[in-house]
This record gives sequence, structure tokens and C-alpha cells, in this order.
Amino acid sequence: MPELPELEIVRDVLQARLGGRIVERVTLSGRGGPIVARDLTGRGFAQTLTGARIGKIRRRGKFMVFDLLPSADLHLVVNPKLTGQFQLAVPGAKKAGPVHVTLHFADPEEELRYVDRKRMGQLYLTTDMAKVPTYSDMGPDALAISQAEFVARLRRFRGEIKGVLAREQFVAGIGNAYADEILWKAKLHPYRKQTELNVLEVENLYVAMRETLLESIDKVRVALGEDVHLKPRDFFSVHMRGGKKCPRCGGKVSEISAGGKITNFCRTCQPGGLIRGM
Ligand SMILES: [Zn+2]
Repeated sequence: MPELPELEIVRDVLQARLGGRIVERVTLSGRGGPIVARDLTGRGFAQTLTGARIGKIRRRGKFMVFDLLPSADLHLVVNPKLTGQFQLAVPGAKKAGPVHVTLHFADPEEELRYVDRKRMGQLYLTTDMAKVPTYSDMGPDALAISQAEFVARLRRFRGEIKGVLAREQFVAGIGNAYADEILWKAKLHPYRKQTELNVLEVENLYVAMRETLLESIDKVRVALGEDVHLKPRDFFSVHMRGGKKCPRCGGKVSEISAGGKITNFCRTCQPGGLIRGM
């Protein structure tokens, strides 16, 4: 799934390639189009989007927000969830997966495709961000939150630290993959309870979160280039590397599958979590 580092680079590419350009035409494809494309304006999704000019493109958490000109308050809001992704392509180019919504641009002819193999994500056209489901519930973006706010907010979220870190209401932008990477960097066992962490551990976690995300953004930028549909993850230290060597201590990376989600960590570098983790 796309998380903060990937979406940050996708945002940069889309802004550079599409900013200032006019949406010539919108296509909703097959059964998926009407399912993922939600019109909250009451004026029609394709009708309202056609002729609009792409303004600023912003990322908040795992949402992508396209400001649409000349309106001051019309936005295309994309929540790709687990399986959605963008593809920039010339017409006729190979599809990265099932395409549900296409924005067509002219001079040069180009398409922004929304691809989603499970149709889990949504595209909302709206003049009122408060109407976009879960957008207003999001906590501060993981790259925007200060250490003091991070420490203060963390106390309000109970449970295992990995689950808390991946909760959008706590901080936005981190999912299952980067939560593993951040906890490995912080040397914290993913199943330790938030309430068990001391002040120093929480401060280290904040630093590890920022370092992991910023370093990953640089790596994703190199690996992705302009191919926004790719998901380069071969630079991960532990996530999806179960059974391989921990890059820090050389021990074996553990893998636990629970609730359909895989958790990877190093038992040597990230001790603790006696109840579920051992
Ligand atoms: Zn290790």
C-alpha cells in the first residue's frame, strides 16, 4: 500500500507534470468507475471535473488533495487505501492494473489513471473537505508533528505500539510497512504496550519515525523516478524480510502474521513483547 514516503514522491511528480493543466475529459470505466468515484458536489463527477485546471496538489497522511481551479474550494481528494495507485501514461500505454478513473490531458496528450485491483480506494469530488470520510479524523501528518505533540498525543492511544503508530487518528501517513521499519530503527518490539514505554523510548521513537520517513523519501525518489505506479521497497531493513539477516546485528528477522497483516522485527535488536511476541 502506498504510505507517506511513496505518496510524497508521487505528489512531487504529479505536481510537476500536471500542475496548471486543464482536465480535457474524464472517463469512468466499467463497474469500478462509479464505485470509486464519489461526487459530493451534486453536480456530477465527470461533468464538474471536466474543464477544471489542476492547481496545487497536496498530501496529508495517505490522502492526496488536488485543488481545482478556477474554483477556490473545489477539490479532488484521493484516498488510495490498501490497493489504489496512480499511473501517468500516454494514451494506449499498458495499464498498471484495472483502471477505474482516467483524467485526460492535451498538449502533450497524457492520462492520469486511477488503478485499483480491489476497488478499495475512493476519489471524492468536493467543495467541503469535512464531507470526505475519515479526512477530518486524521491526526497531524507524521512529518509535520513536533516531538512535544507526538509525546502528548501518544498517551491518548492505548494498545501495542505498532498498532498505535499505524493509526491515522494518532499520526497520519504510516501504515503496516513503515511502522515495522520505524520500530526497527527505534529498537522497540512492535507488540510492546504504549503504556510500557518510558519517556526516552518515546522520544527515540519520534526521532526514528522522522529519520525513517525522510531517508525513505530519498530512496523512493531515486527508485521511482517518474513511474508513480511503482512501489519500490527493496531498501527495507525488516519489513517483508522474514528469515533474512537483520542489517544491524546479523540475527534472523522474525515474522508474525496476525489479522491479515505481517509484522517483521528483530528479536535481538527489539527485545520485549513477552505476551504476544515470543
Ligand atoms: Zn537485529
